[in-house]
Amino acid sequence: MATDKVQEKRQTWLTKEKKPIVIAGPCSAETEEQVLETGRRIFKTGKVDIFRAGIWKPRTRPGSFEGVGVKGLPWCQKVKALTGMPITVEVAKASHIDACLAFDIDILWIGARTTVNPFAVQELADALKGVDIPVLVKNPINPDLALWLGAIERFQKSGIKEIGAIHRGFSNLGEKYYRNRPQWQIPLEFMRRMPDIPMINDPSHICGRRDILQEVGQKAMDLDFDGLMIESHIDPDNALSDAKQQITPEVLGQMITDMVLREDYEDEPIKQSEIQYLRQEINSIDDELINLLSNRMKVVREIGTYKKNNNMTILQQKRWNDIIEKSKIQAAKSGLSEEFIIKFINAIHNESIDQQEQVFKGK
Ligand code: PEP
Ligand code: MN
Repeated sequence: MATDKVQEKRQTWLTKEKKPIVIAGPCSAETEEQVLETGRRIFKTGKVDIFRAGIWKPRTRPGSFEGVGVKGLPWCQKVKALTGMPITVEVAKASHIDACLAFDIDILWIGARTTVNPFAVQELADALKGVDIPVLVKNPINPDLALWLGAIERFQKSGIKEIGAIHRGFSNLGEKYYRNRPQWQIPLEFMRRMPDIPMINDPSHICGRRDILQEVGQKAMDLDFDGLMIESHIDPDNALSDAKQQITPEVLGQMITDMVLREDYEDEPIKQSEIQYLRQEINSIDDELINLLSNRMKVVREIGTYKKNNNMTILQQKRWNDIIEKSKIQAAKSGLSEEFIIKFINAIHNESIDQQEQVFKGK
């Protein structure tokens, strides 16, 4: 069949073979000159595989720049003609898909504000039935792994063969350091559940600022992510959207050059066996930790019985504050971060409260 031939001939862009896959380009296409100049300079770095540009911009609040719309698509086509780089564009509606296909856009991406809505995702998946085009799916803005996986499944069911995921962080009230918290455990669990889907990190939307892009991108590489999507603009400070996080193509090129790339060596028995001994040690420490926690909970339940018999509340605020203070001092002495130890001790405390509630209910 003719479509099989097209399939055979088409280059695979979202592959686990090349690491990292680098996608870069402006947050938004603004003018023809800006798109062409960004494309030319990004290509010149020699570090970028795929050119991105936002054509329709889903903005959180009205009144911000909402993208140039269809007239930006021919500018992207020109970047492809000039540089040979495939082009990716965000789509949020079926009509966006039609426009992208009419202008030979090579890869579509689904934004975080779309992934969050199964109706919208299904509309896009339906519009793509029988269309052979790769699709990248950003994580939803809320930390909900099932929604993200569900969006991927909708495209798989529509017959899309080449699918990638983009980790762009999760919004959170009051977050200061990151614009969107990375919550690395979510993409890592995604990678465990869907190991064949390439995972691309988007440090630009996680950081929301330039000074920590390198550290976040490097962390993604260290966690065996397959690629990076980074926003780049010829005049970042004057960009019409996401100005604070964009970098020039030259800074981008340097950033990729400076990345330390490591191998997982999963297929190399020698490298794996060298760390085997240490892994066994970790396993037995984990077993011990779980035993200790179980012993702690036995004592917790005994205290629960005493509180019940003496009509005392489960939560004893002063006692709890003392535990936190004591743990902080112990953590500092043991070289553990205060942030970690507070999270850890809070998790234990929550379980202790649950256990005592069960005792109160006679379970
Ligand atoms: C973007 O990539 O410019 C964008 C709008 O991203 P997100 O969907 O991650 O907010
Ligand atoms: Mn952006």
